[in-house]
Amino acid sequence: MRGYYKFKNEPLPDFTNKNERKKMKKAIEKVRKEFGTLYSIVIGGIPFESDKTFYSINPNKPSEIIGEFFVANKDHIDTAVDVAKDALKKWRNKSLEERAEHLFRLAKVLKKKKYEISALMVLEVGKNWLEAVADINELIDFCNFYGKEAVRLSKTKPRDMETEEIDFRYEPIGVGAIIAPWNFPSAILGGMTTAAIVMGNAVLMKPASDAPATAYAFFKALNEAGIPLGVVNYITGSGGITGNAILEHDEIKFIAFTGSRDVGKKIYEKIAKPGKRHFKVVPLLEMGGKDGIIVAEDADLNLALEEVIKSAFGYQGQKCSACSRLIVEKSVYDKFLEMLVDATKKIKVGPVEFYENYMGAVINKKAEEKILRYIEIGKKEGKLLTGGKKVKDLEGYVIEPTIFADVDPDARIAQEEIFGPVLAVIKAENFEDAIRIMNNTEYGLTASVFTTDKKKIEKAANEIDVGNLYFNRKCTGALVYYHPFGGRNMSGIYKKAGGFDTLVNFSAPKSIGIRKGTYKNSEKQRNIYK
Ligand code: NAP
Repeated sequence: MRGYYKFKNEPLPDFTNKNERKKMKKAIEKVRKEFGTLYSIVIGGIPFESDKTFYSINPNKPSEIIGEFFVANKDHIDTAVDVAKDALKKWRNKSLEERAEHLFRLAKVLKKKKYEISALMVLEVGKNWLEAVADINELIDFCNFYGKEAVRLSKTKPRDMETEEIDFRYEPIGVGAIIAPWNFPSAILGGMTTAAIVMGNAVLMKPASDAPATAYAFFKALNEAGIPLGVVNYITGSGGITGNAILEHDEIKFIAFTGSRDVGKKIYEKIAKPGKRHFKVVPLLEMGGKDGIIVAEDADLNLALEEVIKSAFGYQGQKCSACSRLIVEKSVYDKFLEMLVDATKKIKVGPVEFYENYMGAVINKKAEEKILRYIEIGKKEGKLLTGGKKVKDLEGYVIEPTIFADVDPDARIAQEEIFGPVLAVIKAENFEDAIRIMNNTEYGLTASVFTTDKKKIEKAANEIDVGNLYFNRKCTGALVYYHPFGGRNMSGIYKKAGGFDTLVNFSAPKSIGIRKGTYKNSEKQRNIYK
């Protein structure tokens, strides 16, 4: 890894410690007191309303309303673009270092609100405590990392040229939009937003309709960190109405998107049509996955077991990087499956506001229905080993962790993104076959291989066609700086979040050459880089 500087990721709390647990319980009580609030759209610091609203609810307790939000329409988008263009005038003239300072300040504000925002995610999107803290930690990492990256880019040295003075600048692209998913409501929404603004852009920030309250908490933190009004505008509403109005606005110059393959495809197609005076660009287009783990016959099976469980069932399998295909070499297939089923049956399932529950509800009713449909398909395509049902005695959208064995690599449950706690297990003849099965998908996001054989590691590293590949660890949990994140094929357009090239994609680089001797009245040509 090209390491330009040292970077320390935000540490996870130790919830086995009673005091840490107390802090989280208090935070859950605190955020609950504000439930039911009506939140405005915020453009340039001014609240706006519309004639249409929607609710965000607790998926573990659907009767609990987190908040009510307005659906922004075309008029709001027009206003927001005008306001953002105005804010851009001053913001773009700040130096990269100055804007980096804003992100460092933002990281500090978020650190102070860590438990509060985590509690909100526990209740709004059903993350367990550790998953929720990991999400806000990742956002704090993004702030610190993108801040450091901006400083690094500010020091880009222009080349020496005999006949010209050379300058090179990373200018902002202009006004853009951030369209984010619900499953990392802090890290992904905030990560794309901070990357955009540190490069001097101004944005319309559209959170997913299942996570607008968490987004509002981040938006408030931006204000507290002193990011000028209008640089980030809080635009809630559905993909169909609000998202579409954003895509159709001619003066929005870039769209950073993370979400499903189908919506990503639509967006990519739609914005390919040039605007009146520019092409829209896509600094990030991160989409779904059908990620796999290979367990080779020489693997440490106990280690593999622990990491497969985390990868497949952590956050109910609702991570783009979640393992939904497990490929096991035939000589260890039966033994590993037995271990896996045993361990899966012990997973604690229930409302995740209680620390002891590892898995809770999936995001909403529609997701629950979709997953249950796939489980029915799975019953025809494989052998159900455990799970397979909705948990009836719970109020939320809770589905048991489910494993299907003997699945054909071409089966639907081995090919289509389910985005829930459903694992398809496939038997491989040998390691070569396992890699062939791994690559037999239209996606290419993450993968992991468990082996102790160096030759197998080299072979897998060369041949597995994904953006994030790991060995002897889970296929989820990419860390900012160490594991720049993003996929290929139908998972992404080869661009990375949290990497050394990310910020450049959010900029409009300008190259300048001034003939030496241009300044007739100055003895020595002005140093334009001072
Ligand atoms: P989604 O349905 O694609 O929605 C993503 C965002 O796009 C939401 O803000 C959504 O708004 C908006 N949207 C929907 N239709 C739109 C349209 N026609 N025009 C403009 N915007 C539109 O995805 P999701 O359910 O939120 O998230 C889960 C998906 O994201 C999974 O497929 C997962 O794999 C993927 N994901 C990928 C990564 C990665 O880094 N590769 C990371 C996380 C998640 P509404 O919420 O209002 O519909």
